[in-house]
Amino acid sequence: MRELSRKVTGIAASATIEISNLARQMERSGIPVISLSIGEPDFDTPQHIKDACIAALDAGETHYAPSNGIPELLNAVSDKVNRENHFSCSPDQVMVTCGAKDAIYDAMEAVINPGDEVIILDPAWVSYEPCVQVAGGKPVHHPLSDKTFQVDDSILDRITPRTKMVVINSPSNPSGAVLDRASMRLLADMCSDYDLFALSDEIYEKLIYGYEHISPASIGDMAERTITVNGFSKAYAMTGWRLGYAIAPLPILRQMSKIQQHSISHPTTFAMYGGVAAITGDQSCVEMMKGEFRRRRDYLVEELKISGFEVAPADGAFYAYVRVEGDDMVIARRWLDKAHVAVTPGSAFHSPGWERISYATSMDNLREAILRIRRCR
Ligand code: PMP
Ligand code: GLU
Repeated sequence: MRELSRKVTGIAASATIEISNLARQMERSGIPVISLSIGEPDFDTPQHIKDACIAALDAGETHYAPSNGIPELLNAVSDKVNRENHFSCSPDQVMVTCGAKDAIYDAMEAVINPGDEVIILDPAWVSYEPCVQVAGGKPVHHPLSDKTFQVDDSILDRITPRTKMVVINSPSNPSGAVLDRASMRLLADMCSDYDLFALSDEIYEKLIYGYEHISPASIGDMAERTITVNGFSKAYAMTGWRLGYAIAPLPILRQMSKIQQHSISHPTTFAMYGGVAAITGDQSCVEMMKGEFRRRRDYLVEELKISGFEVAPADGAFYAYVRVEGDDMVIARRWLDKAHVAVTPGSAFHSPGWERISYATSMDNLREAILRIRRCR
């Protein structure tokens, strides 16, 4: 066979997806694995959202739609952003995508030229680096303090004449840290001083326990240089719907739209009606799920600390990021093989020496997982 694309053969597969596939395989072969590896709410999608999608199907919404998304959803996102995120967003600055992941991919393709450098704050979610690489860019990793997980002046050492963009993800997957106003201000000043773009992944914005969510685009001139990415997977338990969105200044959004037109056209038409119901409907479902995640977080973090583990802030998202002694890959493998508990090693997030434990699972599973991990240490 002739050589395949080097830019694709050169990137890693998604560790989060590979490990959860492996856990599923083990389960299918009869091994009682507790999978704490993938970040996926264990709740069902709220009924009113499913009903809106079913009604759309029944009403014949089974055809092509406008490529950026149905107007009802563009309006709903724009209203939500103006109301909750404190920056100005018109419906034509919104593009609905197949999940936040698709929005991130489109954003990188639209902004990056070969050799452009993109600063990624570590620990970082698994898909930022490959998206930068596929777009021809060069990922530049900047490790955050492993105590506070906030940004300080040392990030300025990463700037070169080729720096084009910084990726911001608060609340963070995998650390659960929420960036404070000082960190956001520093990032905003840096973007302004060096004329950088920012990609802000806010997929966990609704899952914050006692802190405020700050959208970078609400600070200084950041709305002119920020692509804000969000979606329905985490807040509304809609992972399988593959629905997300991007908000960007018009010149950037126009380029992103072209990629969408030439690749997926748009997300599934009737699914978008579910998205409208999610944003405009009763939000008590989000509060209920958040309350449950918080209860699990409190339990898990406490038990991990009692077991002698150091745990990262865990102020948002649904991950406990736990420091381990030894090789995190070997330890994750041992927990999987011996304790039948699947977690994701920190190496997947460019921060060896940690394990990411997802608490988007039942309390019973968490109780059992803690017992098994303790026995296996
Ligand atoms: N960003 C982060 C930080 C995530 O954890 C995820 C989870 N898959 C995504 C983006 C992508 O979410 P979606 O399901 O909307 O593609
Ligand atoms: N974001 C989730 C995780 O980190 C889902 C898997 C993925 O898309 O990476 O586990």
